[in-house]
Amino acid sequence: MAYATTNPFTNEQIKVFPNTTDAEVDAALDAAHEAFLSWRKTSFAERAKVMQNAADIMRRDMDKYAKILTLEMGKLISESKAEIELSAAIFEYYAKNAERLLQPEDLPVASKDEGRAKIVYQPLGILLAVEPWNFPHYQVARIIAPQLSAGNTVVLKHASNVPQSAQAMDDLMIEAGLPKGGFRNLYPTHDQVARIVADHRVRGVALTGSEGAGAKIASQAGAALKKTTMELGGADAFIVLEDADLEKTVKWAVFGRHWNAGQVCVSAKRLIVVDAVYDEFVKRYRDGVAKLKMGDPMDPSTTLAPLSSQGAADDLKKQVDGAVQAGAKAEEIPLAMPNTGAFFRPVILTNVAHDNPARREEFFGPVTLLFRAKNEADAISIANDSPYGLGGSVFTKDEARGERVAKQIETGMVYINHPTMVKADLPFGGVLRSGYGRELVGLGIKEFVNAKLIDIVDIDAPF
Ligand code: NAP
Repeated sequence: MAYATTNPFTNEQIKVFPNTTDAEVDAALDAAHEAFLSWRKTSFAERAKVMQNAADIMRRDMDKYAKILTLEMGKLISESKAEIELSAAIFEYYAKNAERLLQPEDLPVASKDEGRAKIVYQPLGILLAVEPWNFPHYQVARIIAPQLSAGNTVVLKHASNVPQSAQAMDDLMIEAGLPKGGFRNLYPTHDQVARIVADHRVRGVALTGSEGAGAKIASQAGAALKKTTMELGGADAFIVLEDADLEKTVKWAVFGRHWNAGQVCVSAKRLIVVDAVYDEFVKRYRDGVAKLKMGDPMDPSTTLAPLSSQGAADDLKKQVDGAVQAGAKAEEIPLAMPNTGAFFRPVILTNVAHDNPARREEFFGPVTLLFRAKNEADAISIANDSPYGLGGSVFTKDEARGERVAKQIETGMVYINHPTMVKADLPFGGVLRSGYGRELVGLGIKEFVNAKLIDIVDIDAPF
């Protein structure tokens, strides 16, 4: 697929970028390896300086970075700015915490004959990051901030529709003072990606994207016996219990399903409402969605952005049609829609029965799957009736009850009374078909390090 910037608000192609040549791929890997040999020996303080610079530059040039995101994938300009701040916060988090997170750990041993044992955390080498378009800067920051802080180097293959966002991250790290080759954006073909995965100097792959891409890259990495982390799709449950604050819960539901035009892996895709408040909730939810305003994502008064491309909008339409053919009922919310652009009117799907394939699919856009649950236990059971295990929410005024329900939901993240608390200092990741591994905080930085045992033993110790 060719790398190109196409403005989803106008569907106009702005610029095409040529694929990286094989020679450029080789040169990037040589440079990344060369950089690793010295970068791994730099102090945490030195690396922290680069991370802090990256954070400061992003905040200083927020408008510049934000405009590229909105131009290339259409998100609201306010959402783009929030993404830049979140990315900057991630760089800053690791500037402040990487050294502490990778402190050597003394191991308590049963007898002094076992020696003085400790774990030291050392970088592995070059990593490949394969990233999606829905959060073009945040996804990259989530990998490079921890991994560069740990002493690894990174080569990036970003989604083909966000080439300028990808290059902006490359330029950012150079300006922040990262040694040449430490982080490099490429425009590779899928075949070249396979070659990068197989290169002996590449020690791991972090992918965020669809299940299809994850399965493909994970099998390539598996064939080469390399570690991967997979951040894949989701169909998060948003459970509303009868004791929820309905007014605030509805606001969060409308926001949770429609921010980033509904193209968020961890978002309220399945609203599961207990019978006692179902009718009232649905009435208010429909009214809330009807108040959204589609329009120019650069215009601050717009509240529902176009999808990332016309292709994405067409595919989503087909997916909704498929759900209806299989027995679901679709209600389109009749918002006024601009004449051009990859816009998609919000849809609420009900009657999505067990045998409807839509029940097991991810709808990546403003489509709500709505379920009536008999009670709390039924809500949990519907929530867990999914191949995905990324996030989820529980709305209740009783926090202990919320926590009890959260423990029964099979996902990597559950928020009580919030749709999606995505922050620099909270971990991110899922289970089941949503992937494996964690990003951010201490869990993320330890995904691609060698947890090496060093044991200092008395030479006269028994065997
Ligand atoms: P995608 O089509 O899987 O693409 C993701 C990345 O993988 C892109 O860079 C894509 O490049 C690349 N890719 C796809 N197939 C490849 C192959 N055979 N070889 C090499 N590279 C390949 O996903 P998307 O449509 O961009 O993103 C949406 C998906 O990502 C959704 O399922 C969403 O839930 C998921 N997501 C998950 C998280 C999370 O953290 N769990 C976060 C955000 C998004 P090309 O553009 O060149 O195909």
